[in-house]
Amino acid sequence: MAAKSRTTRLIGRLPAVRGRYTEDAPLAKLTRFRVGGPAEVRFRPADAEDLAAFLTAKPADVPVTVIGVGSNLLVRDGGVPGVVVRLGREFAAIDADGTEVGAGTAAMGLNVARVAREAGITGLEFLCGIPGTIGGALRMNAGAYGVEMKDVTVVARALDAAGGVHDLSPGELGFTYRRCAVPGDWIFVSVTVHGRPGDKAGIARRMDEIQAARQDSQPLRESTGGSTFTNPPGKKAWELIAGAGCRGLRRGGAMVSEKHCNFLINTGSATAADLEGLGEEVRRRVLEATGVRLEWEIRRVGVTAGPAAREVAGEGAS
Ligand SMILES: Cc1cc2nc3c(=O)[nH]c(=O)nc-3n(C[C@H](O)[C@H](O)[C@H](O)COP(=O)(O)OP(=O)(O)OC[C@H]3O[C@@H](n4cnc5c(N)ncnc54)[C@H](O)[C@@H]3O)c2cc1C
Repeated sequence: MAAKSRTTRLIGRLPAVRGRYTEDAPLAKLTRFRVGGPAEVRFRPADAEDLAAFLTAKPADVPVTVIGVGSNLLVRDGGVPGVVVRLGREFAAIDADGTEVGAGTAAMGLNVARVAREAGITGLEFLCGIPGTIGGALRMNAGAYGVEMKDVTVVARALDAAGGVHDLSPGELGFTYRRCAVPGDWIFVSVTVHGRPGDKAGIARRMDEIQAARQDSQPLRESTGGSTFTNPPGKKAWELIAGAGCRGLRRGGAMVSEKHCNFLINTGSATAADLEGLGEEVRRRVLEATGVRLEWEIRRVGVTAGPAAREVAGEGAS
């Protein structure tokens, strides 16, 4: 993305940390879409204290973006200026206690569901079908089969932009459909979720059913960012998209999934611009056909590519 001199300057302005900085760090392979430019600097903190110390000491003008495993994320082709925080396995511990499960926010939803199953805790099965981290799930109020993070969260720990620690109740998290009200630059580091006592075999059966249902209805083997648009009140985005004749629509290497037309797919050669442009074309066609303005669920971060690379209004830039 940036000339070496620019990245060198940024890293030279960052505080010493125990974790790892990587300059001009590729991000495409860290996302499900497998597109997009690099992070100016990627930071993998050693632990929550290291992350807090970094946030406290970094220059105020350096933007910070946190990503999970990129299952609801489009990184633009020009990359992400500033520091991209990606939490590693140091933030992936999971523990069950009674009917609660505590997890670091880099833990995958599937693994949280598995720990809950082994502890005989029901109510968290929905997480096995959400292919992201529990941190991403908090930010997105992820949900499926009638259960969302808002229904199961007991408390979430977040660091604010200056490194301050906040333990947030569900009310303070302000969950709404695929959103939470916590400022976009706060980073979740851990969460406690709860379920109810349940029978292991029954929980395992429910998880199998969820995974089989997903296999049938979603393009799970493709490079996709999950649901592209939120469902407008009282409507289904996929029905509007199908009705507007967009199933299978293509732009460059990007395609509207034939299997689930609220999913965009990188067929192999797509750029982020192809995917975002296709999404905007779908929005235009749906608006024209139905009068409904679809809203992006996928978070888009970074800048467009090219000599005239410009910051794009940062919806989703966290
Ligand atoms: C095949 C497929 C199926 C899916 N099915 C569902 C579904 O049924 N229901 C559903 O709700 N979603 C679904 N998703 C979307 C996605 O899996 C969820 O939104 C997931 O919770 C995102 O987690 P992530 O780690 O991938 O986050 P990313 O995609 O990396 O990031 C998403 C957002 O979360 C923020 N974020 C990530 N980590 C943190 C953190 N630690 N602190 C603060 N903010 C953070 C990012 O800044 C970004 O704004 C699906 C996606 C795919 C590809």
